[in-house]
Parts: sequence; structure tokens; C-alpha cells
Amino acid sequence: MKDSHPAIISREDFEKAQELMAERAKSKGNIEGNRDKYTNRYALTGTIVCGNCGNTFKRHIDNCGTVSESVCWICSTYIIGRKKSCGMGRVKEETIKGLFVKIFNQLYNDRAKLLGDYKAKLEREKLTELDNERIGKLDEEIERLIKQERALFDQ
Ligand SMILES: [Zn+2]
Repeated sequence: MKDSHPAIISREDFEKAQELMAERAKSKGNIEGNRDKYTNRYALTGTIVCGNCGNTFKRHIDNCGTVSESVCWICSTYIIGRKKSCGMGRVKEETIKGLFVKIFNQLYNDRAKLLGDYKAKLEREKLTELDNERIGKLDEEIERLIKQERALFDQ
């Protein structure tokens, strides 16, 4: 037996996901061996999308080197100087982190419901698999009976 443990995701799905990730990395310039140069520097880089214009946010330090130094993220469209094309402006990193924790906690609290749906879906698929197996066995049985019948008539 190849896989003794039942997989949470199927082998095909896993391989498909790996392929997709490799493709995405390639399109972002994350080619193996060249990783350091292109790996995103911060966890949030490229992940915050402006709800106003669809561009990504960039990290920026306000009042760098002073006591009032603070990190914020600014819409790229806004930075390039097209302030008129996007009025989103800047968001404090602390605000983003706070929101992330809030959303994460909400998801964590709802995990039973979210995973419950997933579990039910998996069980439905498992049932179909069992059905297919049973149908396969019935097909074999029919085939066997037909052969038996033919053998009887041939005699
Ligand atoms: Zn924007």
C-alpha cells in the first residue's frame, strides 16, 4: 500500500497546489537560486490591496529616527504621485496588525463551523468514492455472470 494514512487532501490536489505555487513564484521572479533578491522583505509586502484602486500597499516609515517614528503602509498609486487617482493614503501598521488579530480570532472562534462544512464535504466525497467502489464490484459481478451464462450456452 502506497499511502497508509488517509490524506486530508488528495495527492493530485497537493501536486496541483505545488505546481500553482511554483508558477506564481516564477511569475513574481522568485526563481530558485535567486530567492534572496526577490523574496518579499516584509510579511505584509504584496498582500495588502487597496480597496480604492486595486494597487498594493508599500511600507513606509514616518519621522524616521525620531521619537515619533511610526510605520505605515501607503497605496502605491498614492506614492507615485497620482494622489488624485487614489485618495486611500496611508494606514498605520499597528492598525493593520490589530485588524489581522481581530479577523484571525474571529476565524478561530468560527473554526468549528468552518471546518465542519469542510469535513461534511470530505465525507460526501468519501461516500461517492465508496459508491464508485461498490459500482465497480457490481460491474465485475455482472461481467462474471455474463461469462458464466455464455459458458453454459456454449456447452
Ligand atoms: Zn489606492
